Amino acid sequence: MKRVVVVGAGVGGLTTAALLARAGLQVTVLEAHIYPGGCAGTFYHQGYRFDAGATVAGGFYPAGPMDRVARLVGIQDWGAQPTNLAMAVHLPGGIQIMRWGDERRHAAMADAFGAQSLSFWRWQERSADALWAFALRSPAWPPQSLAQLASLLQDGLAWLGEDPNSRLNLSLLADAFRPAAHHLRSAPKAMRLFVDAQLLISAQTTSQFANALYAASALDLPRRGVVHLKGGMGAIADALVQAVRQHGGQVLFRQEATSVRVENGRIVGIETRRGDTYPADLVVFNLPPWNIARLLADQAPSRLRRLPDAPPRGWGAFMVYLGLDASALPADFPLHHQVILGDKMGEGSTVFLSLSPEWDPSRAPAGRRVVTISTHTDFKPWWSLYETDRAGYEARQARYTQRVLETASRAIPGIQEAADLILPGTPVTFRRFTHRLWGWVGGFPQVDLFQTWGPKLGVNYWMVGDSIFPGQSTAAVALGGMRLARDILSDLSLPAEVISRQPEPPTAPV
Ligand SMILES: Cc1cc2nc3c(=O)[nH]c(=O)nc-3n(C[C@H](O)[C@H](O)[C@H](O)COP(=O)(O)OP(=O)(O)OC[C@H]3O[C@@H](n4cnc5c(N)ncnc54)[C@H](O)[C@@H]3O)c2cc1C
Repeated sequence: MKRVVVVGAGVGGLTTAALLARAGLQVTVLEAHIYPGGCAGTFYHQGYRFDAGATVAGGFYPAGPMDRVARLVGIQDWGAQPTNLAMAVHLPGGIQIMRWGDERRHAAMADAFGAQSLSFWRWQERSADALWAFALRSPAWPPQSLAQLASLLQDGLAWLGEDPNSRLNLSLLADAFRPAAHHLRSAPKAMRLFVDAQLLISAQTTSQFANALYAASALDLPRRGVVHLKGGMGAIADALVQAVRQHGGQVLFRQEATSVRVENGRIVGIETRRGDTYPADLVVFNLPPWNIARLLADQAPSRLRRLPDAPPRGWGAFMVYLGLDASALPADFPLHHQVILGDKMGEGSTVFLSLSPEWDPSRAPAGRRVVTISTHTDFKPWWSLYETDRAGYEARQARYTQRVLETASRAIPGIQEAADLILPGTPVTFRRFTHRLWGWVGGFPQVDLFQTWGPKLGVNYWMVGDSIFPGQSTAAVALGGMRLARDILSDLSLPAEVISRQPEPPTAPV
């Protein structure tokens, strides 16, 4: 039986671990922190249960990524409650747009941006449908071996053959090479702003740069369906930990991997800060490439050694966690909001705000609600202040907290006064709690489909999580985890079909 060590209990690592344990491998997950989930974890503080980063749960619809994972590893119930309203988006000038999953979505867009704007959304939905039909074939993107390339071509041809609308396929091909902005050339300014802000949170970049195909799928989230999870986003990682254990694997907390033992180019063991060594035949790193390069040091493969000193693109996150008086919220208030002040993206000028559901008493004391607010921020200034000017760092943190709360007050007037707890978090905080170097979160902006990372890094070690395709989000890293488990099983000549090719019900957004 092969011994697999997975470093990191984020959603990507745990998905891989649960699938490999279920396939009969001997799996050990080493997690540095005291609870699982990383950027999608949920932490306790002063009676509240805060989502640390991720707050919007997608991919739970029939045959969606989370549904597939659940069926494969035997998770009976995610504790998910579907909702038709994905989020409310607040544009400058007091305009509020509801992002519905059902038929109301078209009317909402036509009301906000005019009937002619619907051609964009029709393109988006058609492309997303075609891409999801392809994704259900579990193609390995990017291919990392000749066998994967051959299988990709075979899948591609079968998929093209199935689709009677060949014009759509040609346009998809063109979209593989151009940004989403191509489809927004005649869109009104407010609509471009809206799409940019939505892409910032789903593709980590705006329409001018985001690949059109990726953008079409990312913008499909409301239609595919959003759910609210009992206990918060950490419920996903908790269920996966249970699945790993149920299939005979172990998940160990407070076990930070600090170095690796390499023999003849193979990793043979993982050493932890506590001084323990875990022998390994196969290793999965649920970490960004910079973290892996540091662990492997001079044994790192050339691709990792060639990395620039720090991520040249991508983001950190600035967070404000609040405990809120529930009476400050109107009845039936949407649980997710994006607030956009103007053209400037991130840095407190756009914020994403999520509330715990009223029906979930596990998240907050009676009469209170939990709020997580995030904004994209450049991680570099935070680190230079933190390392050279601690007072300057504190002052910046206070300024950002104030700015974020002012922006959030467009969605919840009086938010600051209704809060009995205000807890800020910077990229330095993310580094501390998720161990991601510089607090670099969200992976690579989805600019170029042909420059994405695949999982394989060395003879017997791989990377999973939001640094590989298809990038960030709990559903996306679960997809990456499924791909990786399949790759590993086929490398071992074990039946990978259990993960990839089993018959699926047709895609059906909720
Ligand atoms: C502010 C913010 C908001 C987001 N919003 C959403 C959202 O609404 N919806 C959504 O779906 N996604 C969202 N995301 C993205 C989503 O959270 C991530 O893409 C996803 O959770 C990343 O998973 P991962 O598998 O890459 O692992 P990570 O979350 O990076 O977890 C890695 C784990 O590895 C552990 N670790 C690191 N180093 C070591 C080591 N040396 N030894 C042992 N353990 C180690 C860490 O402690 C951590 O638990 C958001 C992210 C952020 C930051």
